[in-house]
Amino acid sequence: MIELSEVTKVYPGGVTALGGVSLRIDRGELVAIVGPSGSGKSTMLNVLGTLDRPSSGTVRIDRYDVARLSDASLSALRATRIGFVFQQFHLASGVRALDNVADGLLYSGLRSSVRRERAATALERVGLGHRMDHEPHELSGGERQRVAVARAVAGEPAVLLADEPTGALDSASGAGVMELLRDLHAGGTTVVVITHDRDIAAALPRQVRMRDGLILEET
Ligand code: ADP
Ligand code: MG
Repeated sequence: MIELSEVTKVYPGGVTALGGVSLRIDRGELVAIVGPSGSGKSTMLNVLGTLDRPSSGTVRIDRYDVARLSDASLSALRATRIGFVFQQFHLASGVRALDNVADGLLYSGLRSSVRRERAATALERVGLGHRMDHEPHELSGGERQRVAVARAVAGEPAVLLADEPTGALDSASGAGVMELLRDLHAGGTTVVVITHDRDIAAALPRQVRMRDGLILEET
């Protein structure tokens, strides 16, 4: 489903964040990408998710070579195939949970009433059916991250990419979010989770360890 071949990323200013990584993620996998801060995890996730282009090497998604797609095709691929979750939730403040999730479907071409119905279904799926009218400041950290997960999966993407999804949460809320990601995986979504927490990584079926912009080993 996703394949990186000899991917490098050198940021302007000369930092080599990825030194040549090759990785294949198949449909239906649940993968942890683990490594210390600064090892290139987020850079790799951004490249995997087509948010950023590599400096060299190839990225294939559903066999499409991302470098050959126009920006418009790439945006469409990303919007329909990939869901993102970030450490800091990235919810719109002053906007109730239902609309935070529904707005994630703005570019789906669906009517607003249908977007709201899908959003309500996604919120129920993450256990927040009773919090749809709450704004982010009226939710706990764990609940905010559940809203973010609902937004990421409302469009039924093939793959969910999560960058330190438990990094801003206490351990109980973090465990709840991990359980939710496992449920989504069990329901058929391919899930990639970045974490610097070895315990979280150890609980997942596949672990990719990174250091200094390279993949060290896989277990
Ligand atoms: P991780 O997610 O594992 O903490 P990152 O992928 O964020 O690592 O960063 C890898 C390296 O690239 C670090 O040295 C970081 O300082 C550098 N880096 C990350 N983003 C940028 C950027 N936009 N511009 C320049 N350097 C960056
Ligand atoms: Mg990071």
